[in-house]
Amino acid sequence: MSAHDPGAGSGDLIALVCCDLGAIVRGRSLFASQLDAHLDAGVGWVPANHALTPLGPIAEPNPYGSTGDLRLLPDPDTRVRVEGSVDGGPGSKSSHKALELLLCDIVHTDGAPWECCPRRFLRDALERLEHEFDLHLTASFEHEFQLLLDAPPELPFSLRAQRAAEPFPTDVMRALAQARVQPERFFAEFADHQFEIPVAPAAGITSADRAVILREVVREVSRQHALRASFVPLLDPNAAGNGVHIHLDVRDSAGRSILYDPQRPACLSELGGRFAAGILRHAGALTALTAPSPVSAARLRPHRWSAGAVCLAERNREALLRIPPLVSLGGGDPARQLHLEYRGADAAANPHLALGAIVRAGIEGLNAKLDTPPILDRDPAQLDPVDAERFGVDALPGSLEDSLQALAQDDTARGWMPALLYDGYVSLKRAELAAVADMDLAQRCRRYAHAY
Ligand code: GLU
Ligand code: MG
Repeated sequence: MSAHDPGAGSGDLIALVCCDLGAIVRGRSLFASQLDAHLDAGVGWVPANHALTPLGPIAEPNPYGSTGDLRLLPDPDTRVRVEGSVDGGPGSKSSHKALELLLCDIVHTDGAPWECCPRRFLRDALERLEHEFDLHLTASFEHEFQLLLDAPPELPFSLRAQRAAEPFPTDVMRALAQARVQPERFFAEFADHQFEIPVAPAAGITSADRAVILREVVREVSRQHALRASFVPLLDPNAAGNGVHIHLDVRDSAGRSILYDPQRPACLSELGGRFAAGILRHAGALTALTAPSPVSAARLRPHRWSAGAVCLAERNREALLRIPPLVSLGGGDPARQLHLEYRGADAAANPHLALGAIVRAGIEGLNAKLDTPPILDRDPAQLDPVDAERFGVDALPGSLEDSLQALAQDDTARGWMPALLYDGYVSLKRAELAAVADMDLAQRCRRYAHAY
C-alpha cells in the first residue's frame, strides 16, 4: 500500500481472530481501511499459539514447538462491529473505540487447512452429517455469565436484578443484535449478578461463530460500562454455575426436522433417538471437550440444575440431554420446536470443538443404529441402582482428569481428532491442571473467573 493511499495508517483497527483450544480469542489487528488487501492471504500466525493456556503461560511440553508458520484467514461473513462509547468525551479515559473483528480459519501458508483449526473440525463434522446422511445441523448456544461485583446481589430472576444492572442489559442486547447474533432474551439468573442470554438457532458453523462473538461482545460492552463479565463455569463452589446449553436440531435437505415423531415417546423420532444415544455413549469423552476447565466438573453435579447425570429426559434440568417442552399455545408447530438440549457445556470450551464433537458422537449413533435411550421421568439422583441401570443413567466424570481419561480410553472419540490436535489439546489441559494443582476449588474458581 502506498504512502499516498488515504486508507493507509488511519482510522479504526479491525482484529483478525481465532478462538483457540482454551476458548481464548487471540489474533492480530490492522487498520480497517487495509482489510481488503488482507482478505485473500490473511495475517501471520504461529502453531504454538494453540499451546497458550487460558491462565497465561504456554503449555510445556507441547507438540508445536518453535517452528512453523500459519495464516489467520478471515471469513468475511463473520465481520462484527460493536460501537464505541464516548461517555467522557472523545479521547477521555472512559471513551472506548469501536470493536471490529472477523473470525478466521487457521490455514497453512499455501491456504491448505491446518489440522488443528477448530472451525475446520466443526466443518468436517457437519460435512460428514451431510454427505453420509443428507442431514443438516441447526444449533444455538445459550450462555450464562456473571458480573463480578462487590455490591450485594438483588433477588434471583428478579426484575430488580436486571434493572439494577441497567444500562448494561439494554446496551448488550443492542450490541448483540448489531453483531447479528440474534439475541432472544435477557434475564437475571439464580446466582449473584448472574444473567442469561439465549439466542436464535442458526446453521451449524454460524451457531458456533455466534457463541464466540457473543462472549466477546458481552465482554466488550462490560468494559464500556467499567464492569467485568465472567463466563467462568463456576464462580462460587456453593452457588449455581454458568452453563452453556447447546440446543441441537437436525433437519433434512428440505429443512424439515428429522427429530420429531408424534407417535413415539417424548415425540423423539427413531433417528433422533439414535443421534441422542450416540451422544450419551460418548458422554465421558465429550465432557473433555465441552466442560474442559479444572473447575468445570464441579458445576456438573446433581441438583445444580446443570446436568447431574448422563441420561436423556424430557423437561428435566438434571439430564445431560434434555428434550425441552413443546409449546402448543399460540399455535406453535411442534415439529419445528422439538430439539435436544446438551446441558454439559461451559464457556471454557471452544464452541467449534464442542459442537463438532457432539455432532461426531451423534453420527456414531446414527451409523450404529443405536436404540433410543430410555427417557428418564424422574430425578436421576433419586434412582436406586436397579432403576439407574434400567434408565441407562451414568455419572458424569468427576474431574477434568477423569474426562481426559475417558477421552483417552474412547478410541472412537479420540479418532475424531487429528493426532496433532489431540496431542496439543491434552498438553494444554495437562498444563492447566498442573498450574492449579495446589489450589482448592474456591481458589481455582477465582483464578478461572479471570481467565473467562
Ligand atoms: N446454571 C445452570 C447451569 O449451570 C443452568 C440453569 C438453567 O438455565 O436451567 O447449567
Ligand atoms: Mg439458565
